[in-house]
Amino acid sequence: MTAQLIDGNQLSKQLRTEVATRAQALKAKGITPGLAVVLVGDNPASQVYVRNKVKACEDSGLHSVLEKYEATLSEIDLLARVEALNNDPAIHGILVQLPLPDHIDAQKVIEAISPAKDVDGFHIASAGALMTGMPGFWPCTPYGCMKMLESIGYDLKGKHAVVIGRSNIVGKPMALMLLQKDATVTICHSRTLDLKAQTLQADVIVAAVGKRDVLTADMVKPGAVVLDVGMNRNDEGKLCGDVDFAGVKEVAGYITPVPGGVGPMTITMLLVNTLEAAERAAI
Ligand code: NAP
Repeated sequence: MTAQLIDGNQLSKQLRTEVATRAQALKAKGITPGLAVVLVGDNPASQVYVRNKVKACEDSGLHSVLEKYEATLSEIDLLARVEALNNDPAIHGILVQLPLPDHIDAQKVIEAISPAKDVDGFHIASAGALMTGMPGFWPCTPYGCMKMLESIGYDLKGKHAVVIGRSNIVGKPMALMLLQKDATVTICHSRTLDLKAQTLQADVIVAAVGKRDVLTADMVKPGAVVLDVGMNRNDEGKLCGDVDFAGVKEVAGYITPVPGGVGPMTITMLLVNTLEAAERAAI
């Protein structure tokens, strides 16, 4: 293996220790950072995600509230809950777990969250803040990727970054964050004609597609940094990313594993954003 591993578990541990220390400092001032997680329905994956988020809060000394509702909850009732949480001084961050049942307009619910408590960074105000370089909350997954680059002391200035995927929660905000750090950014997607021609020019590649082996060794410039956001299952049912890890690690300079890479960083950045929200509210 030539590539160095960027260990998301280890970096998360370090960042969560910092969160716990800052949370203690706030508590000394009488403020406990609080996150409300709202789950509607019984999607099994969502149940695991919210459990992990609540546990991560507890482990770092943050207060968390899990509100669970039947899948039949009406949109109006959910919006009313969000409004109540917006007005609750003990809650600094609100996260509505997606996906929501079909009868609820997810975008409407996200827009109902106060931007000051939008720790997922999905509100249009957060997206606008990111685009214009104003203070706001960054979506946790791409924010975690940026922390991973920071952890290896990687200077993005003038580097060519290729982001594969253009979703509102990963690909697009990822591209904006890289741009903000002075990288030259290319965004690829399902209609990109020659993905390999793009990735071969990249100093940094972020794969955020949701398909196995989207990035193989022949598509990577030697020494490139490869961040794998994808979460897929292989033939044995085990978690894997978008990157052919076995092949690409022989070519890349740095690589993130799946599991143990970007995944843990996503929850960690949620804690960071919640803490930040509490700190801002305390000013
Ligand atoms: P998404 O909304 O489905 O977006 C996938 C993107 O990939 C789309 O922009 C799509 O292009 C593009 N794409 C699809 N096939 C492609 C191909 N063959 N070549 C190039 N681009 C292609 O997914 P997402 O929400 O961004 O998530 C992406 C992956 O990251 C998923 O596996 C998800 O589970 C994972 N994820 C992980 C974390 C974590 O914490 N580790 C967090 C969030 C997401 P079009 O726009 O043209 O359709």
